[in-house]
Amino acid sequence: MASFPLLFDLGTAKPTTREIARLVKDGGTAALTEAQRRADEARYQEVTCRSALNPVKGMPFNWTLNPYRGCTHGCHYCFARRYHVQFEMNTSDEFASVILVKQNIVGVLTRELDRPSWTREYVAFGTATDPYQPIEGHYKLTRQSIQALTRGRTPIGLITKGPMVVRDIDVLQDQSRAAGCTIYMSVPTVDDDAWRTLEPGTAHPLQRLRAVRELTNAGVNAGVLMAPIVPGFSSSRGKLERTIKAIADHGARFVGCNVMYLQDGTRTHFMRFLEREFPAMRPRFEKLYAKKYPPDAYTKEVKAMVRVLQDRYGVAKREDANRDDEDANMKTGEPEQVGFAW
Ligand code: SF4
Repeated sequence: MASFPLLFDLGTAKPTTREIARLVKDGGTAALTEAQRRADEARYQEVTCRSALNPVKGMPFNWTLNPYRGCTHGCHYCFARRYHVQFEMNTSDEFASVILVKQNIVGVLTRELDRPSWTREYVAFGTATDPYQPIEGHYKLTRQSIQALTRGRTPIGLITKGPMVVRDIDVLQDQSRAAGCTIYMSVPTVDDDAWRTLEPGTAHPLQRLRAVRELTNAGVNAGVLMAPIVPGFSSSRGKLERTIKAIADHGARFVGCNVMYLQDGTRTHFMRFLEREFPAMRPRFEKLYAKKYPPDAYTKEVKAMVRVLQDRYGVAKREDANRDDEDANMKTGEPEQVGFAW
């Protein structure tokens, strides 16, 4: 079996993600003998990436950037859980406790941005991991990547649940002036029980909203994504209203929302989590999530209620939201309890 040098031996080669996958396939995560266990009990494995900008299809953007893989925030609904199987790891414990760190990403990104063929298209951060999860405090790969994108005059959008983003207000201001920058703070709900239950490793929602206020006060375009709204946990009218009021009170420039979807390994993890923690709820989720998405009628109802509440509290719609999401009754209708009694 291949062996790799100690984590902090500067200048020595780190394994690629493909080599990591091979090691884990042969020997499980125990084979990652160089992964460093830190105070949060997660293990961090440095890797060498061959590319930094990932082309994507079927999204509102064409490029993504993820300095880390896996996420210690450990949200049970996280759509990115299913990506961990690319490294032969599971979508449950290992997604939240074995984190790959692309230690060379800034150099690779700089070379990619310097190519004459690079057309400075919008780059989305945080599509497969949180770029401001706690380890960013140590590596600063997100900060340095933003600085590289500023030099490359490339616009960015970044989604996070990490209030650590305020550490980088200076580089976000530079980026805003150079090419444009939008921060999407993910706050699905301000309900304490739902937060503790569904997002065990994240900062309190109000801490995230205070970060939004700091960003907007500093002139950085920042708003909130209530994503995902989870049926039965955060979808009631009362919880939606408290959340949107709090978002408005913290000066968010916009708000968007989405209802949870469940696919592949994320579905497996979420259903196991329900079985373990809330067995009585599982049959209702099996019915609501007979497919990847809940029924259209349910999603429309949730979004309609959010729109009415947005109007009530004066928070703008997410700037890049699809007009198809509009629903006739959202203009004048009074919020009603969402269907399925959730
Ligand atoms: S913070 Fe984002 S990337 Fe991290 S576990 Fe939660 S949803 Fe997934």
